[in-house]
Amino acid sequence: MAEKTKKIIKTLKIDVNKCNGCRACEVICSAFHAEPKYSSNNPARSRIRIIRDPFRDIFVPVYAGEYTPAECAGRDKYMIDGKEYDECSFCRASCPSRPEFKEPDSGLPLKCDMCEGEDEPLCVKWCLVDALTYEEREEEVDEQEEQEEMEVSLEALANKYGLQKMMETFARMAQKD
Ligand code: SF4
Ligand code: SF4
Repeated sequence: MAEKTKKIIKTLKIDVNKCNGCRACEVICSAFHAEPKYSSNNPARSRIRIIRDPFRDIFVPVYAGEYTPAECAGRDKYMIDGKEYDECSFCRASCPSRPEFKEPDSGLPLKCDMCEGEDEPLCVKWCLVDALTYEEREEEVDEQEEQEEMEVSLEALANKYGLQKMMETFARMAQKD
């Protein structure tokens, strides 16, 4: 039987009726994740994106989830309370079918890390209308290994360029050092 272990479940609650589409969350997220921290900001690099269409009163924050190497066999398209949303609008994946949740220059996947190291996610702190709220709880789960962020990035590169080409590039880089 698998070992049990404690896990902290982090939840971000999103109230779409409160979101006004100001995009402060995108600004602070990209600034926090700049290298070095706060040296620049670029909402295209944010791990939260707002589906935003003021003429149709649509403001929906969506958080970057996992990287996926392949798109789904079919796409979803929602109609909610008379509002029609674009294909795959609510999906959190960094997926080959679209530019969201990828570094604009390299195409590497972006994933929300809940602002690791901070007591509260910065997008939650910066949302002045409380459209975003943060909760934590503890759960007992089977032991599982989480794939490290770097591993996911390397997998994405291997899928894009092939393992052989990556190995050759690393070998070249090592020689230069
Ligand atoms: S900061 Fe809050 S109100 Fe502004 S876009 Fe983000 S979620 Fe919406
Ligand atoms: S929790 Fe942190 S990493 Fe995730 S979207 Fe908000 S600011 Fe970005």
